[in-house]
Amino acid sequence: MYRFAPSPTGDMHIGNLRAALINYLCSLQDKSGFVLRIEDTDKERNIEGKDAEIMAILSEFGVKWQTLYYQSKNLKFHQEFAHKLLSEGKAFLCFCDEETLAAKKQKAKDENKPYRYDGACENLSSEEVFNNPRPAVVRLKIPKDADFSFVDGIKGKVEFEPSNFDSFVLLRADKTPTYNFACAIDDMLEGVTCVIRGEDHVSNTPRQNLIRSALGYTQEIKYAHLPIILNKAGQKMSKRENSSSVKWLLEAGYTPEAIANYLLLLGNKTPREIFSLDEAKEWFSLDKLSKSPAKFDEDKLAQINREHIKRASDERLKELGISKPALARFYTQESSLIPEIKKKISAIYSKKDIPDEWRENAGILKKAILEFQTFPETFKEFQSELMAKTALKGKSFFMPLRLLLTGAQHGPELSELYTLIKDDLREIVSL
Ligand code: GLU
Repeated sequence: MYRFAPSPTGDMHIGNLRAALINYLCSLQDKSGFVLRIEDTDKERNIEGKDAEIMAILSEFGVKWQTLYYQSKNLKFHQEFAHKLLSEGKAFLCFCDEETLAAKKQKAKDENKPYRYDGACENLSSEEVFNNPRPAVVRLKIPKDADFSFVDGIKGKVEFEPSNFDSFVLLRADKTPTYNFACAIDDMLEGVTCVIRGEDHVSNTPRQNLIRSALGYTQEIKYAHLPIILNKAGQKMSKRENSSSVKWLLEAGYTPEAIANYLLLLGNKTPREIFSLDEAKEWFSLDKLSKSPAKFDEDKLAQINREHIKRASDERLKELGISKPALARFYTQESSLIPEIKKKISAIYSKKDIPDEWRENAGILKKAILEFQTFPETFKEFQSELMAKTALKGKSFFMPLRLLLTGAQHGPELSELYTLIKDDLREIVSL
């Protein structure tokens, strides 16, 4: 069982979408199932409506889940499991207040050491615990023989210094779970067997494994951490960069097919450069993914977008709001984004604003074009008939003709365009 576990706290990042697509593909390959879990336990950072937006985006990419969970609905399980760990002596109550902890953190900072919880409350007597009126958090006791290593599906064996881990918090004083605790329990309750997520979570994996092993859960969960995506300058792509947001890319006019293709191509060895999700299902394999960070290149995405527009069916292009599919494919030679292409097509089918110097000749051409009974098959024939009718030639012929047909002074070969618009020519020149 695979899962995608986004937090509804902001626009979906391309790194998250890449994780969703890869989890989904793997779940299709081994037919084990895919669940969507909205990790909505951080009330302060949750943004109303982001859950619905995440689902709409996933659907646009063709990602389907069998079950939808909201992490906040599992609160009672998180609390019950914390009690279980407490009663079995695998976790303990910690009464340290914020100021005490802040002072210890400051001291560590002053000494240039990483802060680790010092175990102050780990061995309190039951009297000290029961007679303590202060609010308490629940912390995990780290067993002496704890194993912090794990085998990563991309990185291979990952090991950590045990000194990096302290008795971390499971349940806060307000009885809400921390991310690691909620995530470890939910993966267990939802029968997840494989987690593919961003590299920023690598050091959470030993913690989540420790939590489940303290709970006596023996089913192994396999992990794979995807290298981060860097921008052109080689820095981590921040949430503030437009092109890191899936919503922004879609609004800019990149198609879901192209974005998915590009994200699966990043840092991967694929048999072809252009492919659909369905095709990737046939050959996708985690072990072909590079261990090093991948660089996001918007020009490459633009090129892939053009290829997907070319190979899209008429029906699909219509869904994308394009009324003339053949023209859309044709215009990929000079534009990459759906809105730019739509603009070019709509300029053909709109009233043309012809500069003064070409207006007279455009009028002559228009009149002559409207006199045609039927339009010849090829531009060559059309051109020679029209030249004969109007006695115009060279630039005086081509420039006003181009303006009359496209509304623009520059553009693709008229001879190629002609065959695509010939049936609408009467309408086009009349506008
Ligand atoms: N909610 C976490 C995130 O969006 C999930 C990480 C995970 O997949 O465990 O980063």
